[in-house]
Amino acid sequence: MCGIVGYIGKREAYPILIKGLHRLEYRGYDSAGVALLDSKANLHVYKTRGKVVNLENYCKDKNVSGTIGIAHTRWATHGEPSDVNAHPHYSQSETLALIHNGIIENYLSLKQMLERKGYKFVSQTDTEVLVQFIEYIKTENKCSLYEAVHQALSQVIGAYAIGVLEKGNADTLVAARKGSPLIVGIGEAGEYFLGSDASPIVEYTKDVIYLNDEDIVEIRRGVGEIMIKNLSNVVLKPQVQKIRMDLSEIEKGGFAHFMLKEIFEQPKSLMMCMNGRVQSELQEIMLSGIRDNIEKFRNARRILISACGTSWHAALIGKYLIEYYCKIPVEVEVASEFRYRNPVIFEDDVMIAISQSGETADTLAAIELAKEKGTFIYGICNVVGSSVARATHSGTYTHAGPEIGVASTKAFTTQVAVLTMITLLLGKELGTIDRTTYKSLVRELDSIPEKIEKIVAKADEIEEMSKVFTYARNFMYLGRGYNYPVALEGALKLKEISYIHAEGYPAAEMKHGPIALVDEEMPIVVVAPKFKMYDKIVSNVEELKARKGKIIAIVSEGDKNISNIADYVIEIPNTEECLSPLLTVIPLQLLSYYIATAKGRNVDQPRNLAKSVTVE
Ligand code: GLU
Repeated sequence: MCGIVGYIGKREAYPILIKGLHRLEYRGYDSAGVALLDSKANLHVYKTRGKVVNLENYCKDKNVSGTIGIAHTRWATHGEPSDVNAHPHYSQSETLALIHNGIIENYLSLKQMLERKGYKFVSQTDTEVLVQFIEYIKTENKCSLYEAVHQALSQVIGAYAIGVLEKGNADTLVAARKGSPLIVGIGEAGEYFLGSDASPIVEYTKDVIYLNDEDIVEIRRGVGEIMIKNLSNVVLKPQVQKIRMDLSEIEKGGFAHFMLKEIFEQPKSLMMCMNGRVQSELQEIMLSGIRDNIEKFRNARRILISACGTSWHAALIGKYLIEYYCKIPVEVEVASEFRYRNPVIFEDDVMIAISQSGETADTLAAIELAKEKGTFIYGICNVVGSSVARATHSGTYTHAGPEIGVASTKAFTTQVAVLTMITLLLGKELGTIDRTTYKSLVRELDSIPEKIEKIVAKADEIEEMSKVFTYARNFMYLGRGYNYPVALEGALKLKEISYIHAEGYPAAEMKHGPIALVDEEMPIVVVAPKFKMYDKIVSNVEELKARKGKIIAIVSEGDKNISNIADYVIEIPNTEECLSPLLTVIPLQLLSYYIATAKGRNVDQPRNLAKSVTVE
């Protein structure tokens, strides 16, 4: 979702801010803007609808000097994407400029109050209300910017990460967060950075402070120190941590798109994910989070897995795994539904919450809900130090490395790998997996990265095939068992980046409706590796072929039956059934990528989508 960058120090702020905005582009946005205080402490705000390059073009003949500034990429929630709704927003007297990620839920009542006091609004955003409110408090109470921000935020309902500048005060940057991520980077000699995540900061420093909810920070030039207080006015000691990210991880490294790089990276990201955890020599799984909390799982009445989007598909695979091997009932919940439907949650449930970014608003709310009931919560996320990591009792990082492409790829496979490791270890500890099966699955899991190498090596073949399907307006994806969630994930990938409508279905369910859609124009991707349901899928494929559907089949190496019926075939190396999603999803990712690029889509920044959904 939207991005925030800030800088205060000795260098010119503008180039740092623009570069930072580029680094945050992957999060998804519709407009961009920057505010700077020049050497005379005059405040300048420049903003435009559209891409960061539009902003750069717009700023070409403007005064962009100054060593303090804030910048923003907006993902509109209140008011259409437009120049005037873009951030930063000025206060009425143009003495304050503010950027904001999130939603001010009580903006209407605040706006009405301010209008009665004579305040005029130029935009439709909730954000403008906040900056006006801060100015109002500052004028009324004749207090400092920090104090005014503090008082304003005490009365605000909603989620925010904000940065604020004040005309005439080129030495102070104020920022705060609640519900939306914000990090402070500590550079050399009194230099500070703000970022929604580490990507705009990592080039300059690895020392960061992850702000907590309700923290308000004042960064003052020259003082060489930052002050953090929370909404209750308690002064907090800044906790400096090291970012574990290299610059090369957030650059394309010769690939045309981040998404393609991340697809190809999966053997490596899975190795990082399994490093030290899958011990092939000992044929053991080591996950301290599970081992230390084994009693919670042993006594669990059931496991609830809460997630959104691609993580929800990983969660479904988790259900198949855990129920089969650990014999614990599992319910998979879309977090946005779960949080509002007054679900039955027991104290002896265990919740597993999955989120790549660890900032997904609905997943965080589901965690809070389960926490209130006293449930033990285990997190699976990629971003170290993220809100999910901090809100859960224990968990496992996926260690996939930064995922920049909006369409999730390596995050998915590493989430599935973590769920597999959890299953195997739980099964062993609970005695629901026999020793031989356990050991052979550990060995096989260890060989998955190599097998993925073999699939990505066929990228050219998949690219060729994808050209045939750019005509399609609809796609169907079918799979059974462990590969039913893979069908859902394949369909989601295609929708996200090619804008072709696609539906995923359990293969046998197709007869209960979707088969009516099949004609000679309909491409149907069938995920059909050779396992126990294979013969049934062969029949499903026959049924589709009889109705002239165009079949693209993902099959096991050496497959004869489906290969003879299907129009196109992609083979995957043989593996165990429960591990097959880690392989079958790869050709689906590549197929979506190549169809989307053949259609000229912007795959790294698809329209309307944000990388991590930090608002409801
Ligand atoms: N709610 C604000 C707006 O619509 C901020 C959205 C964002 O997070 O970018 O302008």
